[in-house]
Amino acid sequence: MDVFGLVGNPVGHSLSPPMHEAAYDALDVNARYVTFEPSEGALDRAFAGSEALGIAGLNVTIPFKQRALELVEPDALAARIGAVNTVDFSGTPTGHNTDAVGATRALAHHDVPLDGRAVVVGAGGAGRAVSFGLADEGMSVAIANRTESRAHDLAADVPEATGHGLDALPDLLADADVLVNCTSVGMGEGDERPNETPVPAAALHGDLAVLDAVYSPLDTQLLRDARAAGATTVDGAWMLLYQGVAAFELWTGRDAPVDAMNEALRARV
Ligand code: NAP
Repeated sequence: MDVFGLVGNPVGHSLSPPMHEAAYDALDVNARYVTFEPSEGALDRAFAGSEALGIAGLNVTIPFKQRALELVEPDALAARIGAVNTVDFSGTPTGHNTDAVGATRALAHHDVPLDGRAVVVGAGGAGRAVSFGLADEGMSVAIANRTESRAHDLAADVPEATGHGLDALPDLLADADVLVNCTSVGMGEGDERPNETPVPAAALHGDLAVLDAVYSPLDTQLLRDARAAGATTVDGAWMLLYQGVAAFELWTGRDAPVDAMNEALRARV
């Protein structure tokens, strides 16, 4: 039996175990997917232990994605993004970043053409991965971030990208084709400010496709505003699904059972 898992802190509410185990069930793969919550300074020992115990692969989430890059052999994309979210322990441990392809495959699933102009809001971990993913597809990428200097720093790394403050959003969106929210704005349950959005509703229009990386809640204020403006909308569970699909394919070398994984994810999100 192969053991896969997720390393993060906290990982208690992760949706990855049911999503991956649904894939194992669907394809009759003899494997389990478990969560691990090491303390912040213990990732090196956690990886060494995983390798020694024969763990086949690990997903990596907050706060370990940057540190993981230093502990494994990253592929070219993970090295450019500066973060690893998937480790393959078969042979020399290698690091990959499937958040980038998670976003591009989520958009492609909704028949969104990946050419033209994209606006990425946010320059944290998700913003970095998504900006590289869209640029590598051939889109011109404008990055807008609350802390404008972080947008400029990221834009300097991403081919042909530009960096901006959030105040530039109305101008940037006027002739944009794709908008991806990679900030945590809109995240939360109940009264925890779930009606917030990082993008003024008036800047949205019907020629846009809008992906919100936030998946809790699934229907964010940004997506409600985008729907009202006539835009195509893609919720954050699609991105979560496709980063998991990419990890499954990398680990097993098999096409992932996307429908089964999606069903398991949506039953719990
Ligand atoms: P992160 O590295 O902490 O970055 C957070 C980003 O949000 C930064 O750009 C930050 O701007 C911005 N931000 C935070 N509060 C803000 C506010 N009040 N107004 C405007 N901007 C604000 O986090 P992350 O890992 O990139 O994750 C961001 C979101 O993406 C989270 O909701 C996460 O759950 C989601 N995510 C989803 C997936 C998926 O598969 N669906 C994958 C990865 C992440 P500053 O630079 O100015 O602080």
